[in-house]
Amino acid sequence: MSISDAQALRYARHLNLSDVGPSGQEKLLKARVLVVGAGGLGSPVILYLAAAGVGTIGVVDDDEVDLSNLQRQVIHTTARVGTPKADSAKVAVGALNPDVNLRVHRERLKFDNIATLIADYDIVADGSDNFDTRFLVNDACFFARKTLVSAAVLRFDGQLSTYKPHAGGPCYRCVFGEAPPDDVWTCSQVGILGAVAGVMGTLQATEVLKEILVLGESMAGRLLIHDALSATSRLVKINRDPGCALCGDAPTIRDLSIHAASNGGVCSV
Ligand SMILES: [Zn+2]
Repeated sequence: MSISDAQALRYARHLNLSDVGPSGQEKLLKARVLVVGAGGLGSPVILYLAAAGVGTIGVVDDDEVDLSNLQRQVIHTTARVGTPKADSAKVAVGALNPDVNLRVHRERLKFDNIATLIADYDIVADGSDNFDTRFLVNDACFFARKTLVSAAVLRFDGQLSTYKPHAGGPCYRCVFGEAPPDDVWTCSQVGILGAVAGVMGTLQATEVLKEILVLGESMAGRLLIHDALSATSRLVKINRDPGCALCGDAPTIRDLSIHAASNGGVCSV
């Protein structure tokens, strides 16, 4: 693959970066990232990855654009209320960057389809807002040895980390244990300042690009906790848990069948 004249202009500010340059841009154009949820986090993730020229972006979302989404889900528009979010994201990305192949996955994410879905991608960015989906995505990424960049937002707070237990460091389960029986993070019950999703989703996109380009320090083994009200962020070291049911020394989770009872779906923030 070589970069065309139009691409040299489009990505000029990447090409100017000595740590990216033409070879880095080619890596981006060849990269395949699956974004779980085209919501408040997924919106900036998809837009920045598309703008950066990530060649293949998969979007899993089985929801439709609702008027109440537009306060934070900036990839969608008033005119597209009622259309599937994944289709809406495809329209936005098509207008932004024709270099990007956006693949629409308008399906519920379940234990029996997730492995096939993520097999086509190098990196998974999780922007879902419920624990069932987060644990399912974590477990599927672990078995498929895929890097997972995961973010979460609530009210005025956000969290972000990268999980790649196949390359050292903890998995999501090591840090958060098990999904609570009653999911307290439902889509609509808890409010969020829309721009906080933008902050965390943009950080998430940055970490995905760093993983593709192998730049700087990975967030693997570190959890970023952002507090918008005090405008502060802190980094907490997170470790692999030898007792983790998934990636620990005596794992009890051997496949994704523990998620069989879950209704699946993607409920994006
Ligand atoms: Zn683990």
